[in-house]
Amino acid sequence: MPPNTNQGAYVFDAPGESDGKRRVEAGEKRHFEYPVGESYLDQPIELPVTIVNGDHPGPRLFLTAAVHGDEINGVKVLQRVANEYEPTDLHGTLVCVHVVNVPGYRAEQRYLPIYDRDLNRSFPGLADGSEASRMAKTIYDQFVGQCDVGLDFHTSTRNKLTLMHARADTDDDDVARLAEAFGAELVLSGDGSEGSLRREATEDGVPTATIEMGEADRFQPVLIERGVTGVENVMAAYDLLPETDPQPPTFGKVLESESEKTWLRAETGGLVEMAWGPHPVVDEGERVCVISDYFGAENHVVEAPFTGLLIGISANPRVLPGRPLIHLIELSDDERDAAESAFEEVGFRAQRTFHWMGELSDDIVESTLDTDDDSEDGGEAKRE
Ligand SMILES: [Zn+2]
Repeated sequence: MPPNTNQGAYVFDAPGESDGKRRVEAGEKRHFEYPVGESYLDQPIELPVTIVNGDHPGPRLFLTAAVHGDEINGVKVLQRVANEYEPTDLHGTLVCVHVVNVPGYRAEQRYLPIYDRDLNRSFPGLADGSEASRMAKTIYDQFVGQCDVGLDFHTSTRNKLTLMHARADTDDDDVARLAEAFGAELVLSGDGSEGSLRREATEDGVPTATIEMGEADRFQPVLIERGVTGVENVMAAYDLLPETDPQPPTFGKVLESESEKTWLRAETGGLVEMAWGPHPVVDEGERVCVISDYFGAENHVVEAPFTGLLIGISANPRVLPGRPLIHLIELSDDERDAAESAFEEVGFRAQRTFHWMGELSDDIVESTLDTDDDSEDGGEAKRE
């Protein structure tokens, strides 16, 4: 049995209570706000949290989103998951910290607004440290560190697009199991940066994977759907949902070495146009993008140094020398074919953004996939 396995109430510090504790009992579900700091106006900074403590004992899974305040696809994943499950469903406990970096979220920015501190370099935190460090410690002690396993949802930084993938230290068997359970098509292996939630939690015995998906400042319904499915897969694999069967990924690759991936960078400034497509897979020597000057002269052609998958793509049409354009991951011939057929099935256009349309966007994505599917046998459009 893992050390934190839930055998009863989820208990956390609450200085206002008579015994200094609050409890979410087995069989109880609570949405609440939890103070992690104060503003200049002496008002509390509060985290939105949901705890669903199952009727039956089992492991504790934490989910965190918006550790970077403008990375909001995960916020939608957690909203969905927190509403989907009731205590009667669960063998174990689900802990959702819907928005970790509340000040950054309010300011619509990645970092904590004061001095641009990165909350994701501040874990596990210090009680007498900086404001970021104190906030991290509270979040870590009350929620992350009380769990057995966890997923931290991120997106790319602004003006980039990240293909959905997991980042996990697959040298650690428990983390490898988690990444596999989530069912990501692609896993980038590594232990992560010092002070990141994933690395510190993992080193502390709480296997954690980061899920990277899409763009900052957007809701991308297909990716969100896949995030929700991934959470369900993890809950199934860890027996929080013993009667659910996990869905396998369509394309699986674990990248372990540094040499297999590279950022293609601009060598000249100007306007960039992408030349790859329709799927984010390129062959060695293939033209990936072209940078031209303002008069339209072709200045610089960027070619693929090896056959690979475009895991990160700049969405900014203006470039300066040295600016990253494409994050390319090497694929073998077999992997290349598997990746291409996976995208043929799902459609790369499904990664697009319809953030302001809410549920309407789902219909648009469906119709996009329908339009893309021109097979003679009338195969059904698929969403994950
Ligand atoms: Zn992030």
